[in-house]
Amino acid sequence: MVSPLSVVELVAPFRADPLGSAVFSDFDGTLAPIVDDPAEARPLAGVVDVLDALAGRCGIVGVVSGRPATFLRDHLGGRGLFLSGLYGLELVTPAGEIEVVREAAPWVEVVEEAAAAGEAALPPGVSVERKGLTVAVHFRRDPSLARAAEAWVTARAEVSGLVVHPGRMSYELRPPLECDKGSAVAAAGEGRNVCFLGDDRGDLSAFDALDRAAGEGRAVIRVGVQSEEAPAEILERADVVVDGPEGSLRFLNALLEGLEDP
Ligand SMILES: [Mg+2]
Repeated sequence: MVSPLSVVELVAPFRADPLGSAVFSDFDGTLAPIVDDPAEARPLAGVVDVLDALAGRCGIVGVVSGRPATFLRDHLGGRGLFLSGLYGLELVTPAGEIEVVREAAPWVEVVEEAAAAGEAALPPGVSVERKGLTVAVHFRRDPSLARAAEAWVTARAEVSGLVVHPGRMSYELRPPLECDKGSAVAAAGEGRNVCFLGDDRGDLSAFDALDRAAGEGRAVIRVGVQSEEAPAEILERADVVVDGPEGSLRFLNALLEGLEDP
């Protein structure tokens, strides 16, 4: 993390108007350590509590992730957090139901076909993660298969109309819609100061949304989460760089303290 003084300075506008402030975070690699099996990822101990506490003070607090909304609901639900899944394609409603962006519905079948084709064609070291409206192929277990995974998603994108998005040791095929973390953050944080924490390429669109918010005169904090795999751009564009999910937890606690101090 940069010096505590800078964090204090960055937090000052949030402290002055907590209800006019929004705090959003990515999940994997930001709040949860990266693990070989995506299904086993869990938020770092303490993360849910600090988000919960922030939600009690700020206008809106939430997680904007590439995970299916059901996963976010199961691990972070019931606490009044804004939960956006699949890069803004899905939302958990306050009642715990899953809402899908209407334009995405026609793509369900195309994505299912792509997932089935991937399971049949990709080598065993590449795992196919069916996420409903998107499909991810992971080569973390055998990074030597990165090229094979890339070649397959590229070819599949051409025949299906889906779009390739690179991730951490993975590629994802998504419907070609104007929907990403940036659009989710922009809509949910509209008119507010906005803080966002992220560690990966998919989080750059959220940083773009914060750039636009700053251009409108709102206070923003871009938090870049460092790891061996972090793209340079996320760190270069960050106002604050933290180390892994532990660093995110420290930052969120510092933000909470900044909002609480007399
Ligand atoms: Mg991430």
